Amino acid sequence: MPAAAPTDKSKPYIPLSGSASDGWSSDEEATATCFCGAVQLKFPTEGPGFAGSFICNCADCRKITASMFASNFTIVDTHLTHLRGRENLTAFSQWKTIATGNTMTNYFCSTCGTLMYRVSSGFPGASILRIGTVDDFHLHETKLKSTVEQFVEKRVGWLHGTEGVKQIEGSSM
Ligand SMILES: [Zn+2]
Ligand SMILES: [Zn+2]
Repeated sequence: MPAAAPTDKSKPYIPLSGSASDGWSSDEEATATCFCGAVQLKFPTEGPGFAGSFICNCADCRKITASMFASNFTIVDTHLTHLRGRENLTAFSQWKTIATGNTMTNYFCSTCGTLMYRVSSGFPGASILRIGTVDDFHLHETKLKSTVEQFVEKRVGWLHGTEGVKQIEGSSM
């Protein structure tokens, strides 16, 4: 089988992933969709609604993402739109392992389990979305690239941090 042509990551591109194929991006907005397609969000990729992007290596982020770190971005709730599937989200909250003592509520797609966003009781009015759910992968390379990496002391030993990003021990907030 011939190798597929390499993807040009310098342009918007929406790879086939999961079951939905109706994600999109514009100059100022983009969609984020769960793996099965039931839940789709729309958010701004610029301020004031877009409030920054960060990597987290904390123990909770490993467990909740089933991976080694979480790649997050924060959206002001007044700028977050549920295009579909809000009723298909399950909320799970806990506070025991949150360093700040705040309660973190996680919103998952009830069908496929994708974590769409988290909300902290300490930061009402904002939702922490996941870069990996954003349909246009070009945005992962550009506007949504994190500027901060936190809990670097908890990072797994075989990863070495995000290039050109501020490294912080503990929470950046
Ligand atoms: Zn889903
Ligand atoms: Zn974390």
